[in-house]
Amino acid sequence: MIFVEHCAGCGRRGPVLCRTCRFALVASGITTPSGVIAAVPFRGRARDVVLGLKYGNRRAVSRHLAGLLVNRLIETGAHRDVDVVTWAPTSTARRRRRGFDQAELVATTVARQLGLPVRALLRRTDESQQTGVGRAERQQQATFVAHPRTDGRHVLVVDDVVTTGATLRHAERALRTAGAATVHCAAVAATPDGRSHGELVVGPWTSTVAAPAVTAGRHGDRHHVA
Ligand SMILES: [Zn+2]
Repeated sequence: MIFVEHCAGCGRRGPVLCRTCRFALVASGITTPSGVIAAVPFRGRARDVVLGLKYGNRRAVSRHLAGLLVNRLIETGAHRDVDVVTWAPTSTARRRRRGFDQAELVATTVARQLGLPVRALLRRTDESQQTGVGRAERQQQATFVAHPRTDGRHVLVVDDVVTTGATLRHAERALRTAGAATVHCAAVAATPDGRSHGELVVGPWTSTVAAPAVTAGRHGDRHHVA
């Protein structure tokens, strides 16, 4: 069996994340000014890895990033103040295209590693009445309502890539409205200053490629031969 893979960070032939890229990610955890705990900043090599997930072994690398997020949560001590993990649900359209909800996948992995339950506590409320609005705009306007069983819980809410932080802010507000005792926000990657840098759609799990010129040449030749 011949198995050819390329690093999601630098495109080099080898494992899904080469040694150099692994090391570059390990020490790069951040907390944004708005309090989002992130495994990696959405810039530099870490950003390449996150964007590279579009092409590579997405689940393997996202498990690795979820592991880094767990380390980060333990470092900050936030995990001690959590008794349930949930996620900010992605839009129905995006979930249909992907076949799964990336934020849910990360939340499930994080919860398992922390030995905590994962529950679907949030439901989107911005989708039904906005059929005429463009996809990117809908995502920016994501709003949520939280399940009544949120009452009194210490919640960790997880998202994939955070740019403006608006989605997690809405999620946190909904959880608090439903009576959450505490809410911690976490993400796989976040822009260090909490601004979007003008990117319309970001993250590896969107079907719209944000910056094709950056990665197409390096990753276009990826293939598996079994
Ligand atoms: Zn690499």
